[in-house]
Amino acid sequence: MLELTPKTVSERSALRINPCKTCQPVGALYAALGVHKCMPHSHGSQGCVSYHRTLLTRHFKEPAIASSSSFTEGASVFGGGSNLRAAVKNIFDVYDPDIIAVHTTCLSETIGDDLNAYILEMTIPDGKVVVHTNTPSYAGSHVTGYANMLAGFIRYLADPGTEKNGKTAIFPGFVNPGDIRECNRLLGMLNLSVIMFPDQSGVMDAPMTNVYAMYPEGGTTIDEIRALGGCERVLALGHLTCEEPAEELKKKCKIPYTLLPLPIGVAATDAFVMAAAEASENIPKEIEEERGRLLDLMLDANPYFHDKKVAVYGDPDTVIGLTSFALELGMTPRYVITGTPGEAFTRHVNALLEKFGVADCTVKAAADLFELHQWIKNGPVDLLIGTSYGKQIAKAEDIPLVRAGFPILDRYGHSYMPIVGYQGAIRLAEMIAGALMDRQDRDCADEDMEVVM
Ligand code: SF4
Repeated sequence: MLELTPKTVSERSALRINPCKTCQPVGALYAALGVHKCMPHSHGSQGCVSYHRTLLTRHFKEPAIASSSSFTEGASVFGGGSNLRAAVKNIFDVYDPDIIAVHTTCLSETIGDDLNAYILEMTIPDGKVVVHTNTPSYAGSHVTGYANMLAGFIRYLADPGTEKNGKTAIFPGFVNPGDIRECNRLLGMLNLSVIMFPDQSGVMDAPMTNVYAMYPEGGTTIDEIRALGGCERVLALGHLTCEEPAEELKKKCKIPYTLLPLPIGVAATDAFVMAAAEASENIPKEIEEERGRLLDLMLDANPYFHDKKVAVYGDPDTVIGLTSFALELGMTPRYVITGTPGEAFTRHVNALLEKFGVADCTVKAAADLFELHQWIKNGPVDLLIGTSYGKQIAKAEDIPLVRAGFPILDRYGHSYMPIVGYQGAIRLAEMIAGALMDRQDRDCADEDMEVVM
């Protein structure tokens, strides 16, 4: 029987089985939903956008609106220009958004539709805006699509001539509305005036009012995106997610940016808070107390965390944050993977492992969950941290799973809760400790049964 080791499995190069990612337009659609009164538009066939909307709806348990160019055979052969023109007219007539954010699909990319030219030539009603980005799904992942869409908004809208507003732009990364709320709460405590871009809070966690609102109250406004050009600086959270839009804004409007890890865990949240406070000594007491409570919890539950072997998988910046926090808790990452390609991921994770003196860990980008499962069969772990897609591994190998990241399809309420900031880390630590303690209780009960029998 072939023994599947990280080395033998990694030789499979032309096929992904249970990929740890999804396609670019999903990220582009999510980014566009973080802009107020925006209709995300998928330039391709209806099947694509049905899948993208379904995935987002299943994660957030909220309607993820989007329209489609509805390609049929004709558009596939002759190009989708007329489809897009008809779609833009119908969308403004029927759904009345302020802005349409168009992203491409594999099909429209393959036939080479020139969206820039289509948009320049079309008639757009006064006061309305159409922007676009290219999201070919045979490259990158939904994280790439998210970054591309943000860069697209900036390319079209950020205004280098706008008046200086003294604000800090925050690019929060591919996170849940609950994470954005938590960032906003911390920034509010620091009295920082910010433009959060994008901002899905109040959109993908809009309250039930008994009246359907196609465009809920949340989201970054078009004026705010224009005003990014007058910000003092950008704090871009997530090296692999937010560098591209931050670079785009720097190129267009000369706004300097600081790239930070997603603020997951103690060190990354410290870095975020200090950067937001501009290294001021005056961190509010409430923030210090939150941090202190987190440290207290980490110490109290340390016997359960200590030296537990863990596998972490999901989106690159989320995984880097979760790995960093697992190390801070005293756990030992054994496998750390993302489905999104990019050597920067392995570089960042390896730097963390080196800092904590962990040598025996397999780290891989563009990996899939099939190979993770094979590695775990040969070298088991005590805990899985990642998305719902790992639950088959958890079930097959009888390993507890702490759900974090995107997508989480089989739980409710998770998108309201943060995993960022000190509060988010307290929530994560509580979930991890709970999962490990449940396992220990069960193992003890099994041993008791054996003694009785
Ligand atoms: S065809 Fe491409 S864009 Fe459409 S769902 Fe598949 S991977 Fe995504």
